[in-house]
Amino acid sequence: MADNREENIFPKIISHAKEYGFIFPSSDIYDGLQAVYDYGPNGIALKNNIKTYWWKAMTQLNENIVGIDSAIFMHPKVWKASGHVDAFNDPLVDNKDSKKRYRADVLLEDHVAKLQSKIDKEVTKAKKRFGESFDEAQFVSTNPRVLKYKEKIEEVESRMKKALEDEDMEALKKLIEDCEIVCPISGSRNWTEVRQFNLMFSTEVGSVAESANKIYLRPETAQGIFINFLNVLHSSRKKVPFGIAQIGKAFRNEIVARQFIFRMREFEQMEMQFFVRPGEEMKWYEHWKEQRLNWHKALGFREEAYKFHDHLKTAHYANAAVDIEYQFPFGFKELEGIHSRTDFDLKSHEELSGKKLQYFDPEENRNYTPYVIETSIGLDRMFLATLCESYTCEKVQDGGKEKERVYLKIPPVFAPFKAAVFPLVRKEGLPEKAQEVMDALKFDFEVAYEEKESIGKRYTRQDLIGTPYCFTVDHQTLEDNTVTVRERDTTNQQRLSIEEIHSWISQRVSFSSILKKV
Ligand code: ATP
Repeated sequence: MADNREENIFPKIISHAKEYGFIFPSSDIYDGLQAVYDYGPNGIALKNNIKTYWWKAMTQLNENIVGIDSAIFMHPKVWKASGHVDAFNDPLVDNKDSKKRYRADVLLEDHVAKLQSKIDKEVTKAKKRFGESFDEAQFVSTNPRVLKYKEKIEEVESRMKKALEDEDMEALKKLIEDCEIVCPISGSRNWTEVRQFNLMFSTEVGSVAESANKIYLRPETAQGIFINFLNVLHSSRKKVPFGIAQIGKAFRNEIVARQFIFRMREFEQMEMQFFVRPGEEMKWYEHWKEQRLNWHKALGFREEAYKFHDHLKTAHYANAAVDIEYQFPFGFKELEGIHSRTDFDLKSHEELSGKKLQYFDPEENRNYTPYVIETSIGLDRMFLATLCESYTCEKVQDGGKEKERVYLKIPPVFAPFKAAVFPLVRKEGLPEKAQEVMDALKFDFEVAYEEKESIGKRYTRQDLIGTPYCFTVDHQTLEDNTVTVRERDTTNQQRLSIEEIHSWISQRVSFSSILKKV
């Protein structure tokens, strides 16, 4: 898979995404709208495949997980109960010289990442120096420079954790100053005070201004699940432990919207709330941590591209939280969160709605409020991870000359087109024969058809959008009913009889083969 740490690869990925119909800036003809994006024809196909993989892994593989689709608009009290009205804030700080706005916690996290990369550099240098005999564990626990960096990291993290927990904005500002953090644009340390900023968008429902009600665009899909807890429990007759899954849009007025579709103001989440017996939450927390990492690993991306990152500060509702981080071209960043949300949400909704949100456990013969383990992944971030991992640029020999070959190594199950069918030439009955191949495949797979330009150019076009297999109908096809199949990743070619194609593709692109690995 692509080593996406190559310098300057990110701008290439972004322009590739636009040029080949994956992602366009929103309102492009008006010069875009910051942090909002549209998905093009290939983008929506890839996105739908990611959704299907997640949905099947949740609701099809687990007979105790059911899905819902709740509305984006909810009663305003939902966000009071969830704590979002009072606590869904990010600490923001402006640089007075560049006038750029930053999240104070992100500035500090980036500072910690820099210190960590200094440690990594020391390790790499020492590895080179000592060769075979190098003992990394001993080196990082004894080298004075590494120890100094580690101490600094610990100090910054513990001061940041305390400041965030106490909502002490002055302490955050002092920490930014003590770390001597400079604005990446102006290079100055001329910072404003740190202030809290609520991330929810609001709008009004009702046509008459006086009677209009302020409502919010949901900043997470999870609350739609909690407020339907009783409805689902009664209609589906599930027993604890059971889960409710949902995919849908969420909206956040992000302070700093950068890094393409990594941080958007309108995005999609795939969330699952798993309701468990109080006291059993840590067991299920560990279970879902493992399950979710398996889901990622089944895709065959680089093993080292993932790591767990425990939260320094758990959200107001959680007693344990971890992120699955993916190594984006701009560093390891959160891709998915797994949170133990206790009984916070159901209890708060019970209080504010006056409805009893409890479960009668027949085995224990008692009522209780279930505890909740949540898994929450950003669909757009998963899309970005897939694109980054798939973008491949290789040096190849072409008639004695070296040239670059760019292609998208998208896992076949996610590819917008599973295959392409080409007649070698546009005459002599080959297009008609190719159409026969199309007809044999199109009811089960997304298949592209192309007959213009040379075969080489057609292969390249399919490579650039990640089509894993191309079938070419040539003169031999008319004689023996075989076609050439060319594989995207290896460019290897072999002959296959037309009768075999369907099952050949099906083995390689089906959700079942990947779901078996989860
Ligand atoms: P971050 O720390 O990056 O702001 P978060 O911890 O606030 O993220 P959660 O509230 O845990 O994120 O949301 C769950 C998932 O939703 C995240 O792991 C991420 O994949 C996705 N997500 C959150 N905010 C955004 C956003 N602005 N744009 C795209 N995806 C997002």
